[in-house]
Amino acid sequence: MPVEINQMSALILKPGREKSLLRRHPWIFSGAVQHVDGNPVLGTTVELRSAKGDFLARAAFSPHSQIRARVWTFNPDEVVDADFFRRRISGAISLRSMLNVAVNTDALRMVHAESDGLPGLVVDRYANVLVAQFLSAGAEAWRETIADLLLAETGLASIYERSDADVRQLEGLSSRCGPLRGSISPSPLTITEDGLEFLVDLERGHKTGFYLDQRLNRHRVRELAAGREVLDCFCYTGGFTVNALAGGAQAVLSVDSSAEALSLCRENVALNRLPADRHTTSEGDVFQLLRRLRDEGRVFDLIVLDPPKFAPTAAQAEKAARGYKDINLLAFKLLRPGGLLVTFSCSGGVDAALFQKIVAGAALDAGVEARIVGYLAQGSDHPVGVYFPEGHYLKGMIVQKT
Ligand code: SAH
Repeated sequence: MPVEINQMSALILKPGREKSLLRRHPWIFSGAVQHVDGNPVLGTTVELRSAKGDFLARAAFSPHSQIRARVWTFNPDEVVDADFFRRRISGAISLRSMLNVAVNTDALRMVHAESDGLPGLVVDRYANVLVAQFLSAGAEAWRETIADLLLAETGLASIYERSDADVRQLEGLSSRCGPLRGSISPSPLTITEDGLEFLVDLERGHKTGFYLDQRLNRHRVRELAAGREVLDCFCYTGGFTVNALAGGAQAVLSVDSSAEALSLCRENVALNRLPADRHTTSEGDVFQLLRRLRDEGRVFDLIVLDPPKFAPTAAQAEKAARGYKDINLLAFKLLRPGGLLVTFSCSGGVDAALFQKIVAGAALDAGVEARIVGYLAQGSDHPVGVYFPEGHYLKGMIVQKT
């Protein structure tokens, strides 16, 4: 526990820069800090004080990041110690249980960082294994305590660490992957979601292995797929593909640039004994493939567009908007009249309103009439802190071409 040593350290903010903290947003940017009292190091718990000296919050110090401190607590009487983490972790677990998330799945997000009051900590459960990401200096400083608490609070025996996200570099932390507690059987392991099985590669898969945030939306696609010709773009390991086939799709074409992902996608189709003769994969760039399909005059009844983050922050929003518009425009052209586009953005820099505008612009330029028949988001195991709108990162719509 590295933190007690510098309990007196504090960041004193510039006059007026306490506003976001008074609105309980959990980040303080470097430009808001007037000076640092004491000698805090990476991950030390510091007090955030206004220019007048008023207590604002206790936070983890990130000396290398633009986000200079991330708030653990706004309560002046709350101490940041092992018991603090026990309360937060246990609260996160109770929430999932109260929401009945695990009734139809053995894979879910247990801790969603800021939105569960634990900035920088992501914990996903895959069957009997937890996968943890320590993404901030503060989470890193409490890693051992958090690992012990996760086992104690869940009753599970194994944690695999996937602290290899790019944001670690911004925090001045190197990447680290491997077993953190217990023994982990070789990847991939199998999870069961809504009666369907998926292989998840904990060691090499994206994020912590699977796109848990799309669980409800996979289910929706399954309900909409019967008898349809489906195009699943950016399919990864086939979350939407498997659901479309299970929902009775007549044919599914799955596209991804990763050969490894496509191979797991085919395995996932086989694992669920779904008809392989209705399934085709295509390795390549979606931007190019959509153009080729258009030139070949191909048409589909249901198209899923679930691209990677084009704009992690608002600074890249304009370039991202062009990317989203391009693929959505092409998708509108490839849809039969009456067909459905299931389109997503997981870019932090593109909010729901902007995403809707981009899709409207794509429909306009494609020369089609369309209507939104559903708004989609991440599932409730990915809560959104009410003071942390950044937590709502997955935006989606079901759009019918009329
Ligand atoms: N729909 C998936 C998650 C998609 S993640 C699911 O529900 O599980 C984004 C995927 O896009 C990754 O698998 C990545 O390999 C792929 N990808 C990224 N850029 C691409 C491109 N230009 N063309 C095709 N695939 C791409």
